[in-house]
Amino acid sequence: MSLKIQHIVPEIQARLSGNPDIEITNVSIDSRSLQNNSGTLFFALSGQNNDAHSYIPDLIGKGVRNFVVNHIPKGLENKANFLEVNNTLQALQDFASYYRKSFHFPIIGITGSNGKTIVKEWLNFLLSPDYNIIRSPKSYNSQVGVPLSVISINEKHNLGIFEAGISTVHEMEKLEKIIQPTIGILTNIGSAHDEGFQNQEEKIKEKLYLFEHSEVLIYQKNTLVDSLIKPDIKTFSWSLDNKEASVHISQKSVAGKTQLTITYDKISFDAVIPFQDKASIENAINCLMAMLYLGYLPEIIQERIQLLYSVEMRLKVKNGINNTEIIDDSYSSDYQSLRIALDFLEQQKQYKKKTIILSDIFQSGLPTDDLYKRVSELIASNKIDRVIGVGEEIGTYSGSFKNIITYKNTDELIADFKNLNFANETILIKGARIFQFEKIASLLEEKTHETVLEINLNAISHNLNFFRSKLKPETKLMVMVKAFGYGSGGFEIAKLLEYHKVDYLGVAFADEGIALKSAGITLPIMVLNPENTSFGAIIEHNLEPEIYSIKGLRAFLKIAEQRNLQQFPIHIKLDTGMHRLGFQENDLPELIDTLRGTSYIQVKSILSHMATSDDLEHHDFAKSQIALFEKLSSRLMQELSIEPIRHILNTSGISNYPEAQYGMVRLGIGLYGISNDPSETKYLENVGTLKSIISQIRTIQSGESVGYGRRFMAQKETRIATIPIGYADGIPRSWGNQLGYVLIKNEKAPIVGSICMDMLMVDVSAIDCQEGDPVVIFGENPNVTYIAEKLGTIPYEILTGISHRVKRVFYRE
Ligand SMILES: *Cc1c(COP(=O)(O)O)cnc(C)c1O
Repeated sequence: MSLKIQHIVPEIQARLSGNPDIEITNVSIDSRSLQNNSGTLFFALSGQNNDAHSYIPDLIGKGVRNFVVNHIPKGLENKANFLEVNNTLQALQDFASYYRKSFHFPIIGITGSNGKTIVKEWLNFLLSPDYNIIRSPKSYNSQVGVPLSVISINEKHNLGIFEAGISTVHEMEKLEKIIQPTIGILTNIGSAHDEGFQNQEEKIKEKLYLFEHSEVLIYQKNTLVDSLIKPDIKTFSWSLDNKEASVHISQKSVAGKTQLTITYDKISFDAVIPFQDKASIENAINCLMAMLYLGYLPEIIQERIQLLYSVEMRLKVKNGINNTEIIDDSYSSDYQSLRIALDFLEQQKQYKKKTIILSDIFQSGLPTDDLYKRVSELIASNKIDRVIGVGEEIGTYSGSFKNIITYKNTDELIADFKNLNFANETILIKGARIFQFEKIASLLEEKTHETVLEINLNAISHNLNFFRSKLKPETKLMVMVKAFGYGSGGFEIAKLLEYHKVDYLGVAFADEGIALKSAGITLPIMVLNPENTSFGAIIEHNLEPEIYSIKGLRAFLKIAEQRNLQQFPIHIKLDTGMHRLGFQENDLPELIDTLRGTSYIQVKSILSHMATSDDLEHHDFAKSQIALFEKLSSRLMQELSIEPIRHILNTSGISNYPEAQYGMVRLGIGLYGISNDPSETKYLENVGTLKSIISQIRTIQSGESVGYGRRFMAQKETRIATIPIGYADGIPRSWGNQLGYVLIKNEKAPIVGSICMDMLMVDVSAIDCQEGDPVVIFGENPNVTYIAEKLGTIPYEILTGISHRVKRVFYRE
């Protein structure tokens, strides 16, 4: 990109104060990105609780010079170039739309409820031999993601593939203006994200806006969709049964694959796709349609479509050997996704030292000289400590990189693996598919058994934003990461929360806080239940104790005096009805006396905890707790002349008592995707999926039994699969004996017999499955709330009960 500010100003309707002649070379919205520089145009987006305007001084310090803002922050006039607009998000979208107009090659726009990302990735694979493709990275399909994707088009591209996702009405019109697709694809319309729409029709109508100005729309013929398509839109439809479609397709299963017969315009040909499930077949046909429309010959379609692969689109974070952290992005390598992966590395790194294993880069649309110059600059600006290059091309350019070692191919690297001495570092693995970097990932990975708890970091961000949207702009947010982040992982989640700039973390015990601080978390951390013996360690690690008794206060003051602390932050807990920890009303005179006149500590906050925030039957009791909190905290503030932060709400309090937000709230279980209010649950995303595999399958006869105590007796011939997970992993034993089930190939397999310590058995008579197939113990289905309900407990107990021997794997879409 190379655009003068004077040309940008009118397009986004800005008022400029500064130099119109400056050349812009890239765009950013992320103040944390190490890729910002003097050619960056920074759009200061402001969300509910996070306003990028406040990072501008810092960015100026780092050399960024050009800002699109809602207002020029005080004191910064003349310190940089400011483009003032009414709405910075709108300006970003207008900018993208203006930038898009300078390119005239075909752009494929994809929307639908399911399959968007897969169709995009597959089309990229199918068409890349013939085009220099720009596509949206991962699932960058939102109001912010789409403009960012479009802005990364450059002069060398000659085909674009962008996906668009919406959650409510009026969003697609904006995305249409940015993508301006020439070829449209409507993928499967399911029921996902229906909340934002009144009904199915409204949803489809809204999605169809994307194709308003396209030359053609590709879709599976469907009467509802047909009735909603505007008559002047040219369609290219397909169907398995409706003869009126432009292309008719029949299918039959052959040995694990599907053979399609495509009849179109008097020609007819076969093509084999390596899948049998309905969704993959549908996605593959949509791709095939695009190829037909682009004029591909049957021979080429046949040849390429049989090579389609399962798309692994996730960036995974795992623990590796010798204290390493692995960020595994071993399925793609292009310039744009490298930028994203490097930002993610910065955000999620657990160790100071950063290493990247990088293959040759494809599909940049740039001449290789230019490309590797840019890649080396990118890597330098991200302060990567060592680069391990794999491939002929990157080898040729090794001179442009600092501290690089290169190998001709992946096998050469593997042969030299020992000499690379991986230890105490965060390693980003980034390679094109053909380099098979999964082999490297598997060497680096810590070996544990096949059972893993997968944690979806996107879902955590989503849930965080959901609860943030309920807060007043000035309300601070503490997130509870006690009990190893409710079982989901301590450090990794704390790191993500730090990235999202929450205000506080909360843990139960000092050692949890110490672990986080030692791993480099810098957010303030409140310790709910500090034992007196841990006060020394709390002070040394800059943790902040909750003080709930006179005895505790005196003990802490004594240490504070010995160490001559000044204004050390503490938090005063009041008991307003929970009757667990805290000062009661009659303790107040003594508390006030003890606090008055000491400068060793300062009361950072006053808090209380509600016993019934989740249960509207006890609404009156909850209200009385809030009233008592108001009374007691006011008295403390008055008599001590202090103005601490006050907080009383946990997750369900945030939802049910918004008037009691005070200065801060304490979000817990909601972050992990769980709410006890079903109308709220549908807005949350599932965070944890507990997975395992089938170890062995056997068939037993009628009258034979399964497991300890012979609690399951087969009534007929039954296929039994054994899964290597048991009550020692945290699966409640009461979930066995046909009460519970697991999911295999998306079908329910009832748990039969008693759950053992390390294994359980399920009935798979009705499921076409094999040893080694994946098994879901919980996740979206069955979800933890459902299991808890069936077992007469609460989701908290199930989540926090998953044992530490189950490996946690974090990923981002
Ligand atoms: C655990 C805890 C929270 C968070 O509760 P959730 O119900 O998980 O939101 C808040 N405050 C205190 C004092 C807690 O112990």
